[in-house]
Amino acid sequence: MGHQDEPARPRLAVWKFASCDGCQLTLLNCEDELLELAGAVEIGYFPEATQAVVEGPYDLSLVEGSVTTPGDRDRIHEVRAASRRVVTIGACATAGGIQALRNVADVDELSAAVYAHPEYIATLADSTPISAHVPVDYELRGCPIDRGQLLEVIAAFLHDRRPRISDESVCMECKRRGNVCVTVAHGTPCLGPVTHAGCGAICPSYDRGCYGCFGPAGTVNPQSLSRRLRELELSERDVRRVFATFNAAAPAFAAESARHDEPTSS
Ligand code: SF4
Ligand code: SF4
Repeated sequence: MGHQDEPARPRLAVWKFASCDGCQLTLLNCEDELLELAGAVEIGYFPEATQAVVEGPYDLSLVEGSVTTPGDRDRIHEVRAASRRVVTIGACATAGGIQALRNVADVDELSAAVYAHPEYIATLADSTPISAHVPVDYELRGCPIDRGQLLEVIAAFLHDRRPRISDESVCMECKRRGNVCVTVAHGTPCLGPVTHAGCGAICPSYDRGCYGCFGPAGTVNPQSLSRRLRELELSERDVRRVFATFNAAAPAFAAESARHDEPTSS
């Protein structure tokens, strides 16, 4: 709680749903900025960082993770009701995450294969993004999210403005870094043309193709990229798989993955 003479600081909450905690860790990894941030906001709820809890309502809620259980399906409505602004962080919260691979499988079969007593598992058939359940004020993409973009989002919402984050593709970042294109130079498959910027084109900068961690960019043509991937001798099955990773249920990637549903010899 602040001193009586101090103006009230905006109250921040950080919530976890089905996720690996990597996006919350991105916030904790903002070492240089964390003290300043802690001075600018009152941390009301952030179990990853502190056991102290300040009751809501909260000015800004960051939500990590997807909805995969009946309990979480109810809890997200409580989070929304307690929050003035809700920002979802990461591929899990914005697209269902890698756990959304269950959406095209039989979840009962998966539970039986993994757990000795699947009858104790309360789980939904689908992994869905937070926006499928409640209105969301902003979706920050990435697996994990980028710390620079996270700080921009927090600063923007504390000042009641839209975040200045472009929805351009990784190719734009890649070109700005002066990289030689791994696809053109070496024939390496790369999802950069259809992937949302934010990572700084880290994989192409180390001579690897982009894996699509940030999900679809604003305007994308996955069909065209798939044709190029086939020319690079990826099988139909492999093309299907490159779109079915961290953002498998993001609509543009899910649709493209489904177009390559039938494995054929190549
Ligand atoms: S988006 Fe990736 S890094 Fe973030 S919580 Fe989900 S799996 Fe972890
Ligand atoms: S390496 Fe990938 S991200 Fe970079 S320009 Fe080529 S296709 Fe785009």
